[in-house]
Amino acid sequence: MKTIKLNSKIFTVGKIVCVGRNYVAHAKELGNEVPEFPLIFLKPPSVLIRSGKYIIYPGYSNEMHHEVELVLLIGETIKNAGQKSAANAIAGYAVGLDMTLRDIQSELKKKGHPWTLAKVFDTSAVISNFVSKKDYQIKGDENISLSINGQIKQNSSLANMIFSPVEIVKYISSKMTLEKGDLIYTGTPAGVGKVERGDVINAEIENISSLTTEVV
Ligand code: ZN
Repeated sequence: MKTIKLNSKIFTVGKIVCVGRNYVAHAKELGNEVPEFPLIFLKPPSVLIRSGKYIIYPGYSNEMHHEVELVLLIGETIKNAGQKSAANAIAGYAVGLDMTLRDIQSELKKKGHPWTLAKVFDTSAVISNFVSKKDYQIKGDENISLSINGQIKQNSSLANMIFSPVEIVKYISSKMTLEKGDLIYTGTPAGVGKVERGDVINAEIENISSLTTEVV
């Protein structure tokens, strides 16, 4: 069982809901349309690792990509949430990595198959410590960045998100119940690219949190 500590509270991690194509420049770099609604997929909690742990490169892929994302922690059960209850349900913020097997994903997309095998593999979700919403009011224009071996690869602002955190929570809760301990990965800015074994990845969202991990 994976748990998250936020101040004195312990949350058991439930489902991990991920948003695809939430930054215009990233949708375009992969040749995708900018979506009308958030594009949603899931990861199970078993793939989650904390900052400081290793990402294990699966032997069946030759193209693992980094995706740095703002992550929301859901603090209460909600269904069909309105603006206010969606905002209230967000308990905290973190920075996360949605590691993706781009070669596998391209094959699956070509066949019209679900993305599961490109997105779900052990260690494919990395998470930093969380900051409580009580302790930090998100402004929405914080810098979000990722570097590999000290070289900046992704550098953007949360202001470039197409769907805001509250809009995302509202939308997901209109399709499935969100429960205390669920995580939402809110999509990655432009600049995604390959990682290699031995790479050290650092990711940060200004004023929120940072993480470090290594690919093995
Ligand atoms: Zn992603």
